[in-house]
Amino acid sequence: MAANNGVGNHAGGLIVSFGEMLIDFVPTVSGVSLAEAPGFLKAPGGAPANVAIAVSRLGGKSAFVGKLGDDEFGHMLAGILKENGVSGKGINFDKGARTALAFVTLKADGDREFMFYRNPSADMLLTPDELNIELIRSAKVFHYGSISLIVEPCRSAHLKAMEVAKEAGALLSYDPNLRLPLWPSAEEAREQIMSIWDKAEVIKVSDNELEFLTGCDKIDDESAMSLWHPNLKLLLVTLGDKGCNYYTKHFHGTVGAFPVKAVDTTGAGDSFVGALLTKIVDDQSVLEDEGRLKEILRYSCACGAITTTKKGAIPALPTVPELDAFLNAHH
Ligand code: ADP
Repeated sequence: MAANNGVGNHAGGLIVSFGEMLIDFVPTVSGVSLAEAPGFLKAPGGAPANVAIAVSRLGGKSAFVGKLGDDEFGHMLAGILKENGVSGKGINFDKGARTALAFVTLKADGDREFMFYRNPSADMLLTPDELNIELIRSAKVFHYGSISLIVEPCRSAHLKAMEVAKEAGALLSYDPNLRLPLWPSAEEAREQIMSIWDKAEVIKVSDNELEFLTGCDKIDDESAMSLWHPNLKLLLVTLGDKGCNYYTKHFHGTVGAFPVKAVDTTGAGDSFVGALLTKIVDDQSVLEDEGRLKEILRYSCACGAITTTKKGAIPALPTVPELDAFLNAHH
């Protein structure tokens, strides 16, 4: 029997999400620059942590693997994972470096402005030796992004964790979550993101990431399929309020989005991924059955849509009753 890993009474196989967890500081008023902002609110995030919480909210079993600062913010973030039923057995705390912070604003002209505090931050300092190998080995799905590839030693920890998970038979799931300002250059970002491309069996990219990775401004089947590789079981291109395109070896198509009044799209992609992984962790045969896969993607799009209707990522991730009510209302 698989180890419980302290993940409460959540059901199903374990989904381990690897990477960064940090705090976004967002202005208390909208449409201002960082310099003009009168004050900031804490918004916990980091795509891999969001995915772990999304899974748990939907009744799945998840763990987060990463490093936080041994400071007020690091312990606050670990507390948020715990409150949400995510196993913290893969969390390390760094005595020297702080928990990562990002100040983020959407200016009146629609441009996003970022200022990161990662000089270095604790997440970047995770070493291969610090990994909880037993936890990673018990994963049925191992999910990750690309921010953990930017610098050593975290990059080596990422590669080792992926290898351990793969050897133990986990399905590898990759959402690059491009954050260009964190990379030394666009070329380096593209090269490193693609350096682990062929390992993943499920990949989700957004329309913008598809453009960036292919260098082509067309969001069509041809450009998506140029990213295909033989180990891949499912490639997803999310399209914001237009839903998503899916590609497998044998079929491809589109699932439309749900019409909602979006107030903050942060975390929509993570919610979408969390929902998908929760649905496939115990039965990967759905990846070969278009009818069932479309149902699951509809469910994932509903989770993405719900997440856009509230401010912040984590507070907006749906629970099963919220999702059921939404699906009933949008029948
Ligand atoms: P990411 O957050 O990674 O950029 P998207 O913004 O494409 O990803 O969102 C992921 C999914 O969430 C979409 O495929 C869609 O189903 C849903 N979604 C996102 N934005 C909206 C929106 N404005 N209205 C309805 N659904 C949305």
